[in-house]
Amino acid sequence: MDIQKIGIIGAGQMGNGIAHVMSLAGYDVLLNDVNEDALAQAMARIDKNMERQVSRDKISTTDKAAAIGRIITTSALPDLGETDLVIEAATEKEVVKQAIFDSLLPHLQPHTILTSNTSSISITRLASRTDRPEKFMGFHFMNPVPVMQLVELIRGIATDAETFDACKKVVDRLGKTAASAEDFPAFIVNRILMPMINEAVYTLYEGVGNVESIDSSMRLGANHPMGPLELADFIGLDTCLAIMNVLHDGLADTKYRPCPLLTKYVEAGWLGRKTQRGFYDYRGETPVPTR
Ligand code: NAD
Repeated sequence: MDIQKIGIIGAGQMGNGIAHVMSLAGYDVLLNDVNEDALAQAMARIDKNMERQVSRDKISTTDKAAAIGRIITTSALPDLGETDLVIEAATEKEVVKQAIFDSLLPHLQPHTILTSNTSSISITRLASRTDRPEKFMGFHFMNPVPVMQLVELIRGIATDAETFDACKKVVDRLGKTAASAEDFPAFIVNRILMPMINEAVYTLYEGVGNVESIDSSMRLGANHPMGPLELADFIGLDTCLAIMNVLHDGLADTKYRPCPLLTKYVEAGWLGRKTQRGFYDYRGETPVPTR
């Protein structure tokens, strides 16, 4: 199957990054959001991020102009009926995603592949509510999309080989690397990463180390580029907690029990970098550990 036109639903953090890499790879992009401001902000961010690539000689000004020219923004979901592949990257709520698919399906062409960038929701369950479970799969980018090399491709129980191969070809054309994952809670990256972050929070909770000693131990002792608590702040502590809950509920194993201290930070609204406070306080010149 030849994919040329790609629809992206949700122009937030992930959606703008996906539009960025797809347009640079030569795909025509239709970027949709319910919020007109989000669309304007996404285009401004794409412009800024591509300008940074120009200043580092990664792309030319001509590449940038051509890529931006390939992106059309729309708040009308039916416009995405023209596309060959849809990547849904709207808010991480199952009801939101289901409502999007319900409104979009009557407008889609029969050959269109439907995918979701969800970090945790069951692909099989999302697919089962559509008219094309065999043409439905998970297309999971990492944040920030233009920088991160990996894309997880997740097959639902019904996903057919043609659909998987078509998505794999798109990942190849982006110059990224695909990892194939089966549809079980949190897939591969978050299945391994989140329990490690949760264990780092338990290590803090039990007083084995403080924020600084835990992060420097993992940076210097395990050669991780970022400490686990610093990374949790970057991802967002609410997101970390939500993924731990998906693992705990979906696998029914107490080893995935979210650390009560993680829950406490989320209840306090200390969600990490996005709220200026998490395991570190970001309100001053340099981040200061909060424990
Ligand atoms: P975000 O909050 O930055 O953006 C979500 C966007 O979706 C918003 O602009 C919102 O206006 C839009 N939206 C909400 N309802 C909509 C609708 N009905 N139709 C169209 N647009 C709608 O969220 P994000 O961080 O970009 O996450 C998006 C998806 O990507 C989620 O499923 C998330 O789990 C997944 N994801 C996130 C990360 C991450 O690190 N943030 C990483 C991988 C995957």
